[in-house]
Amino acid sequence: NLNKSFQVKSKKALFKKPKPIHILNEISFELLEGETLSIVGESGCGKTTLGRCIVRGVDASSGDVVYHAEDGKEVNYLNLKGKEIKAYRKDIQMIFQDPYSSLSPRMSVFDIIAEPLIANFKLSRAEVEEKVMEIAEKTGLNVSYLKRYPHAFSGGQRQRIAIARALITQPRLIVCDEAVSALDVSIQAQIINLLKDLQEQFKITYIFISHDLSIVQNISDRVAVMHLGRIVELATTESLFSHPQHPYTEALMSAVPQPNPDFKKERIILEGEVPNPANPPSGCHFHPRCSYKTDKCIQQVPELREVGYNHFAACHYAEQLQLRGVPIETEDEVQSR
Ligand code: SF4
Repeated sequence: NLNKSFQVKSKKALFKKPKPIHILNEISFELLEGETLSIVGESGCGKTTLGRCIVRGVDASSGDVVYHAEDGKEVNYLNLKGKEIKAYRKDIQMIFQDPYSSLSPRMSVFDIIAEPLIANFKLSRAEVEEKVMEIAEKTGLNVSYLKRYPHAFSGGQRQRIAIARALITQPRLIVCDEAVSALDVSIQAQIINLLKDLQEQFKITYIFISHDLSIVQNISDRVAVMHLGRIVELATTESLFSHPQHPYTEALMSAVPQPNPDFKKERIILEGEVPNPANPPSGCHFHPRCSYKTDKCIQQVPELREVGYNHFAACHYAEQLQLRGVPIETEDEVQSR
């Protein structure tokens, strides 16, 4: 039940009370160990804020992030203070979008990778060196170049440095915020493969924030679709891509390029403007752009509810919309697949 709002003053009403803008509204999901959960949605839907709230890059306004630590303890990560945070921070890391600005230009690559290790563990210089060399090799970095500075590396190499830095504390969860968006397509594939290999080796859990549905389809076990600060659909990748149950997801899916030129899928164009989060529409926030809306949609916020096996959607008419020729699979069909 995570919520985040910012207080914003309008330029036209500087002396009036600031108005809250709700960026995240009642976000709830479980994350399973070793899985990749992707979060998708248009720019401004709140996916980056969600990632930052989870790693405590920004403070959530309310809600919990319950973390099951390896020692069996269950802690609310958002309630921790001072030294308590340090005990868990090494377990939760983040990789940022832009490998050109997320690395300090004044630090050598060795120091960039070693920094979280030195901050979280009491180790001798020799032990730090050994660990940095080990992780550099695992992430495909040339260990003889570690005394150089980030500007001497290409975009793909810099993202490898960022991954090495995130991995050095052996985290259990990494939030990847558009981690490959700034890279060329061929480099993207290399980094995705690297993330998958490292996940297998170290049993890492990923939250993968992206707007690129082709990559999401390739890397994720489950996908959450966000619209205007809410999760509107959450399902396994297979189920979401083959049987989208929310009209917004259906429109997003229709925009994914098809590699097979004989497979012609009708593109769904959403009419109207993306609503302003400072002044969201009533009821279902998607209603101004939804061709299936009724009066109920304008009045009532739809809850995220299970509409198929392990498939959740926030639409009053998800079951009826299955009449469009994409019936959702039953539990038996999923099990036999
Ligand atoms: Fe469309 Fe209504 Fe469903 Fe919202 S609740 S997605 S407006 S049909």
